Amino acid sequence: MIAVKPLALVVTCGCGERGRVMPGETWSCPACGRTYGTGDVPEEEYAAVVREVNRTKLRAIGGMAVIAAIFFPLGFILGGELWLTGIVLLAVFYFGYGPKVKRDVRRIIRTLPHWTIREMGDD
Ligand SMILES: [Zn+2]
Repeated sequence: MIAVKPLALVVTCGCGERGRVMPGETWSCPACGRTYGTGDVPEEEYAAVVREVNRTKLRAIGGMAVIAAIFFPLGFILGGELWLTGIVLLAVFYFGYGPKVKRDVRRIIRTLPHWTIREMGDD
């Protein structure tokens, strides 16, 4: 299933090491021990990116919910075979639409602004 979760920021250290950090947290480089704070990342800009990614994923989940909402009650009225049709449609939707969602999310992440965060304790 496609999970809706917050995005991690990718930090590239001066020594070339890379790591992931959630906004608001501090990242220490495992290779050289330098620490980086994410306080400089504009919260609004970051939140907008997260919202766009989540919207894309929610569209896919919403589509599957609609299929389930149509076929589940219909199965009670018209017979259980309709559940089978619903499950097949869900699978078709999942495998047909899923890759598009992944592509969209990748595109959004590719267009992410690059934020420069300062090394901590450098003043
Ligand atoms: Zn480092």
